[in-house]
Amino acid sequence: MHVLITGGAGFIGSHLVALHLARGHKVHVVDDLSTGLRANLAPFEESPNFRFDEADMLTWPLLQQAAAWADRIYHLAAVVGVYRVIAEPTRVLATNIAACERLFRTIAASGWLPQVVVASSSEVYGHHHEERLGEEMDLSVSTRVGTRWNYSVSKIADEALALSYAQKFGIPVVVARFFNTIGPRQTGRYGMVVPRFVEQAVRGEPITVYGTGEQTRSFCDVRDNVAALDLLASRGSGDALVANVGNDREISMNALAELIRERADSDSPITHVPYLKAYGEDFEDIQRRRPELTRLRTLTGFRHRYTLEDTLD
Ligand code: NAD
Repeated sequence: MHVLITGGAGFIGSHLVALHLARGHKVHVVDDLSTGLRANLAPFEESPNFRFDEADMLTWPLLQQAAAWADRIYHLAAVVGVYRVIAEPTRVLATNIAACERLFRTIAASGWLPQVVVASSSEVYGHHHEERLGEEMDLSVSTRVGTRWNYSVSKIADEALALSYAQKFGIPVVVARFFNTIGPRQTGRYGMVVPRFVEQAVRGEPITVYGTGEQTRSFCDVRDNVAALDLLASRGSGDALVANVGNDREISMNALAELIRERADSDSPITHVPYLKAYGEDFEDIQRRRPELTRLRTLTGFRHRYTLEDTLD
């Protein structure tokens, strides 16, 4: 199989590269290294089945050729991370939407129908706070996004683009709504909570919980995430599908800080920081985030292999 991965030098993308090369597939990565790292690809550079192009996919001249070569395309390239969402809202919207549009326009023009997996996000559920977030929820009433949640709006637009192209051109599309994904190669540079807590605990610095810490998240190991994506893409039914990808164990940020302190055998104090101080502006955080995973499990038989403790260890 030939696999094209946009954003493949990033955290999740590099695990997809590993999964497909291990199966003997040919993998082509395009990444502008804006948040991704060349070092994430170092283990693969010697493989004859691996090719990397450092390029912005908005202007990459080889996109058409690479898309026509691919049996499967994972579209992960995006401007990510809460710090950048606040600092560069226009860039988030412009890049994320334009990248998705360019990819699908290129595929449609080629007349070739690769299986496409688009990385969406639990952020599309916005402030829905039901116990479990299911794919059938109405996103138009969920977001109440305000201008700050440009990332969420960009992902809603990407989903709409992907599903529209799927309907018009018959492109088989999986829209995968990733919930918080954690594991090796994730950095805390752009506001990701687990690597930040781990770094603070290991250094013996205060573990800084933003807001009250009662807000919850559900963390999925990246190796489970990419296994689930592969299963969704391998269904071969050719229809368009939206599916949550995550883990449904819910944990508050206070409990997460305690757990990380305990696993790191650290004496770090746990302190609470107001959002205004953490982000430089007041911030209406999402209070609960837990995926409904029935669709993923029913369609693919997916089972998690890693618990939160496994990933932290
Ligand atoms: P990441 O920043 O590690 O990966 C994104 C990659 O895209 C980076 O390598 C970056 O350099 C690249 N990129 C950005 N703009 C590009 C462009 N114009 N052209 C080429 N490459 C470009 O982040 P990640 O956590 O691996 O996220 C991968 C995808 O999953 C993203 O689409 C993100 O929105 C989505 N997602 C991630 C999570 C999570 O918890 N990590 C949750 C929900 C959704």
